[in-house]
Amino acid sequence: MGAARGRGRRKAPRPAAGRAIDPAGILAKGEGASPPPGHRSGFVAIVGRPNVGKSTLLNRLLGQKLAIVTPKPGTTRRKLLGVCTRPGGQAVFFDTPGLERPDSRLGRFLLEEVKAAWAGADVVLFMTEGRDEGADLRALSLLEASRAPVFLLINKVDRLRRKEALLPLIGRYARAGGFEKVFPISALRGKGVEELLQALLARLPEGPRYFPEGVLTDASEGSLAAEFVREQVYRQLHREIPYAAAVRVVEMRRDPETDFLRIEAEIYVERKSQRGIVVGQGGARIKALGQAARREIERRLGEPVFLGLEVRVKPNWRQREAALRELGYAAE
Ligand code: GDP
Ligand code: MG
Repeated sequence: MGAARGRGRRKAPRPAAGRAIDPAGILAKGEGASPPPGHRSGFVAIVGRPNVGKSTLLNRLLGQKLAIVTPKPGTTRRKLLGVCTRPGGQAVFFDTPGLERPDSRLGRFLLEEVKAAWAGADVVLFMTEGRDEGADLRALSLLEASRAPVFLLINKVDRLRRKEALLPLIGRYARAGGFEKVFPISALRGKGVEELLQALLARLPEGPRYFPEGVLTDASEGSLAAEFVREQVYRQLHREIPYAAAVRVVEMRRDPETDFLRIEAEIYVERKSQRGIVVGQGGARIKALGQAARREIERRLGEPVFLGLEVRVKPNWRQREAALRELGYAAE
């Protein structure tokens, strides 16, 4: 978990030559002020339709689980920064929510998150699972034309029964145009990911290390803990419930007597009936959610924690600006 503050995001338009000096706002701390000669660095946005494997790729690049991943579309709701540091360069990735036409205020926020990551990127990775290039191109058209080079990632190639199936796929996307390079990968298995990273680092401009080595993200421990709870809501509950749920960590403190880290989180749903489902028969569901989320949080933090969960109703929160803001779905 990172100590660095500030979001690594720049506002468009970028200067045509040269670059923003300190997008992450941390150079004052003395890090990266004089990069080794030839050091390359920059921002890389991972975008694409829901469920294609963007968050899986971020985790694979970092070698550990930072982003939550579930089999359901629409899991990621905020852009998430992940830093990949190698001797010769540093790529600062943004995982983003799935690219689709918004159908709620929450959806509009999600699209804004993608746009922010997109606008600040030195290289864009557009990911597809190669199923429907028409839908991919429609999704892409929700964004402005990119000034940055766009690499096409065809993910989940481990699912292809025959390797030959890849060639016509690549051909179809290549004809759609606009992609500087194409990488067939399996984010899940790691196939092609190191090659992708090397090509990316070579394509980034010369620049400093924005984050000290060892810093993985600027996301707070509390926000990651909230995400791990939400991941279990997506995994263990179904139909409309995951989409109607939001999670907020309200307290994180160390018990002075036991030295135990205590995390109190609230799960919000939109209706009373949904609250009952999240709690479950005799509290069985909330207990199972809490146990699974606690294990993930403990793995992340490297120590045992106490996780307290409460379920609350916030009617219609996905459509209300003030509620979205309270739940952290607002631009900073
Ligand atoms: P996102 O919505 O684009 O962030 O997608 P996720 O990373 O959450 O992944 C969605 C689903 O696709 C999950 O069930 C992943 O395990 C699965 N997935 C991601 N990458 C791969 C891959 O390379 N191969 C296979 N078979 N499944 C993958
Ligand atoms: Mg995701």
